[in-house]
Amino acid sequence: MARLFLCWQYLKHILFAMTQELFDVGHFPPLGEVPRRMHASVIRSERFGPPVTAFQPEVVDVPLPGGGQVLVMVMAAGVNYNNVWAALGRPLDVIAARRARGDQHDFHIGGSEGSGVVWAVGEGVKHVKVGDAVVMSSCRWDETAYDIRMGADPMTSSSQSVWGYEENFGSFAQFTVVEEYQCFPKPARLSWEEAACFMLTGATAYRQLTGWAPHTVKPNDPVLIWGGSGGLGSMAIQIVNMLGGIPVAVVSDETKIDHCLKLGAKGVINRTEFDHWGRRPDMTDTEAFAKWHKGVRGFGKKFWEVLGEKRSPRIVVEHPGESTIPTSIYLCDNAGMVVICGGTSGYAADVDLRFLWMRQKRLQGSHFANVPQCAAITHLIASGKIDPCLSKTLSFAQVGDAHQLMFENSHPPGNIAVLVNSPELGLQALPTG
Ligand code: NAP
Repeated sequence: MARLFLCWQYLKHILFAMTQELFDVGHFPPLGEVPRRMHASVIRSERFGPPVTAFQPEVVDVPLPGGGQVLVMVMAAGVNYNNVWAALGRPLDVIAARRARGDQHDFHIGGSEGSGVVWAVGEGVKHVKVGDAVVMSSCRWDETAYDIRMGADPMTSSSQSVWGYEENFGSFAQFTVVEEYQCFPKPARLSWEEAACFMLTGATAYRQLTGWAPHTVKPNDPVLIWGGSGGLGSMAIQIVNMLGGIPVAVVSDETKIDHCLKLGAKGVINRTEFDHWGRRPDMTDTEAFAKWHKGVRGFGKKFWEVLGEKRSPRIVVEHPGESTIPTSIYLCDNAGMVVICGGTSGYAADVDLRFLWMRQKRLQGSHFANVPQCAAITHLIASGKIDPCLSKTLSFAQVGDAHQLMFENSHPPGNIAVLVNSPELGLQALPTG
């Protein structure tokens, strides 16, 4: 049956290709008709390096949905740091990693979130249909995996991987294939680009702040948020606020302070006032250690000053990694939690174990989000309680430029999107084909 279905899909594909094989970006075939070829923004290993040159336009075959999968015509895509790493080819060469697993493709199409229209469905798809407007979440897993069947959160499954990063054929293309459970109804109040940009950072922040009981945000909890004006930070400030906590944000530039305050931060610390960042000096180097200790204590005092009381953060939202972890671990309250989802500044972070065990703190890894967490953030965005914080929208030709801004940390506060098939900014309506 499955084979028959796939044959039909291929036949449809070929028949349609006989009439028109490729559409310009922003031009749609009739709803449900699948062209053979598509425009994509592609990374190849021979041009690994700065995103601005690593991403190049190419024409490739449209992927086809298998059982339980959905082909989505992409209207807009969100831009995230993971495809800065993909462009650089480090710390993971995503193309080589996939080829080592048997994948034939010698290119990478990134993009781990986006909005679009369901264009075709594979066998067994029950909850979405052709024509539905959806937003797509970032991770996939094998629903039949043994660990999941034994009750594991799918995000912790050994079968879990990131679509449009570890997996190919992400949202920086006219069409993409996702699992059915990666599709959520597009919030009607949002344009395609607004809908495309919130899922990856929003759901990740939501899991960090609500997913690790008993360290969930409670009313009056002080929460320290690194990179408060970034994608994750902008979402974290709003979520903490909504849960009744007290968000204190960190930025590196005075111009970003207003953004954090408008989102509900109680106060903002400019990290450039301090210089103790990076790996913690060895304690035998008494001079360097004393200097570091003075720096970290000064930062703690600043936190109290901004908070307006002498309390430490019960939760610290971490992602810079190497440059900030020693401070996060030091500052976190007794029995509090540092919850980390990234390592923008590096991975060799020093943890002074004395603070960890004597003060019974928790260092918790956190990675994207499961289906209920993605549904929760989509609902909060749809109801207007959380703003998607879209700050900049670029064209499809500018996928590389968008990632370059992020690479250079010169992007504006909030989230970035690129238009893919959506022909104009602010458009909410469905394309009719
Ligand atoms: P973003 O929009 O670029 O924001 C990150 C912010 O971090 C920047 O605005 C910057 O703010 C701050 N920052 C950069 N370098 C820093 C440093 N050395 N020390 C302190 N702060 C620094 O990126 P994002 O989308 O929020 O993502 C942030 C990180 O989380 C990335 O590494 C990303 O890969 C990771 N992430 C992981 C997941 C996951 O599921 N595991 C999901 C989303 C993101 P200031 O310069 O103003 O301080």
